[in-house]
Amino acid sequence: MTAPFCVHCGRAADDGEHAPCRTSRTALEPPRFCAACARRMVVQVTPMGWDARCSRHGAYTSEETG
Ligand SMILES: [Zn+2]
Ligand SMILES: [Zn+2]
Repeated sequence: MTAPFCVHCGRAADDGEHAPCRTSRTALEPPRFCAACARRMVVQVTPMGWDARCSRHGAYTSEETG
């Protein structure tokens, strides 16, 4: 699956360089922007991982995305 937007910086996935967004470290960090619409999400870090919510697309969790 290819998301249209980068969840870490909020730019289009094919816009420029996203290497800093795709390190092993950022892979463990919660997304900050919705991959579908690039809205800034409300992110909550939980003991189990994280929970990020887009006002339009609903919640993403670390469990769903693996
Ligand atoms: Zn990025
Ligand atoms: Zn969204």
